[in-house]
Amino acid sequence: MDYDVIIAGAGPAGSTCARICAKAGLRTLLLERETFPRPKPCGGALSGRALAHLGLSLPSDLIERECFGVRVHYGKHVVEARRDLPVAFMVSREKFDHYLARQAVEAGAGLHEGEAVREFSVQGDRVTVGTEQGRYEARCLVGADGANSIVGRTVRPMFPRDEIAAAIVGSFRMNDREIDERLDGLLDLYFGVAPLGYGWIFPHKGYCTVGVLGQASEFDSPPKVFNEFTASQGMAVDRPQGHTIPWGGIPRRVAGKRVLLAGDAAGFADPFHGEGMAGAVLSGKLAGQAVVDGIRGKKDPLSWYAAECDRVIVGEMGIALQMAEMLGKYPKLFLAIFFSDRLALDKYLDIAAGRSDYRHFRKWLLPRLPGYIVKMLVGKAPAGT
Ligand SMILES: Cc1cc2nc3c(=O)[nH]c(=O)nc-3n(C[C@H](O)[C@H](O)[C@H](O)COP(=O)(O)OP(=O)(O)OC[C@H]3O[C@@H](n4cnc5c(N)ncnc54)[C@H](O)[C@@H]3O)c2cc1C
Repeated sequence: MDYDVIIAGAGPAGSTCARICAKAGLRTLLLERETFPRPKPCGGALSGRALAHLGLSLPSDLIERECFGVRVHYGKHVVEARRDLPVAFMVSREKFDHYLARQAVEAGAGLHEGEAVREFSVQGDRVTVGTEQGRYEARCLVGADGANSIVGRTVRPMFPRDEIAAAIVGSFRMNDREIDERLDGLLDLYFGVAPLGYGWIFPHKGYCTVGVLGQASEFDSPPKVFNEFTASQGMAVDRPQGHTIPWGGIPRRVAGKRVLLAGDAAGFADPFHGEGMAGAVLSGKLAGQAVVDGIRGKKDPLSWYAAECDRVIVGEMGIALQMAEMLGKYPKLFLAIFFSDRLALDKYLDIAAGRSDYRHFRKWLLPRLPGYIVKMLVGKAPAGT
């Protein structure tokens, strides 16, 4: 047996998992299709909760900006909220993902770049993984190979189009003074631009990321919406990149025989605002823990992992999904909650900041919901677009 564990994909989920396994002394191999630093279509907003899950203090040059709040647009309505903690740390995914992979290597993992997993098979007590360069044997395999995971396809059905978002992003060069003047340290979100999604402008260092995301099954022409959105913002972008984001909150299989799925491969992104790095890092951590304990004979790793994912990710994301569906269906209720009561937006931002979670938000929201519905019905909420 060459390795204890092989991990397919060195994104936030895979590199986190590899770091944990290698730190515990397991013979760990991380296989990455691309060569670092590699581009990754992303807004680059690492939430406070994602950073907390990561358990690393990032070098200061990796954090291009800290954002303490949001400016939310819906038609002609605009509302802003700021917190006393950063809700997002703005990173370049090229540098951030490379850094996480290096952390895994420093912990003792082997990293093979430019080597894609093509196939695998499970026989008895081992998994054999095939790439174009070779074959490797390990006790288990973690599929952290993203939304189009080839490992994932053997564990669960392909994600249907109503369970994924389509997203397009580009970057727009701007000097930092202009960025400060325009965005004032806030994440700029434009709801109503795309079905069950939004357009965004996120401030970085010397550039902004600008993009749109919406539910794939209802999003007819993402490139057209992207072009209209960027043109309306005076931010025409060259060579935008698109990708899918699988919604979390839907019960799915995340473990098969000697195989675990983590991150987008498992479908753990936040269906309310599309953030995927928090679920990727958290599931990478849990997968690492499951593999370490399983190999030490302490627990049944597959059922423990599936139960933990249900408990700490799927349940939480399920609430986010209910909210996304409800507010997508009743946009005036969305306006009544977030545009007529600043406290609601503050409470929501505390989730991203890592100070609260969806369960607490729901507990806070439910008794107030009838009041918001009345506001909406008697026209005290801002009128729609
Ligand atoms: C346009 C867009 C904007 C986004 N903006 C944000 C944001 O601002 N904040 C946020 O938190 N989330 C954002 N997300 C979501 C986020 O990017 C993902 O949820 C997150 O990257 C998932 O991490 P992961 O490690 O599971 O997968 P990935 O980051 O996709 O990493 C998977 C890795 O596996 C590699 N790989 C693929 N196939 C193979 C193979 N066969 N063998 C070996 N390696 C393979 C890939 O090269 C990649 O390095 C955005 C997504 C999109 C599409």
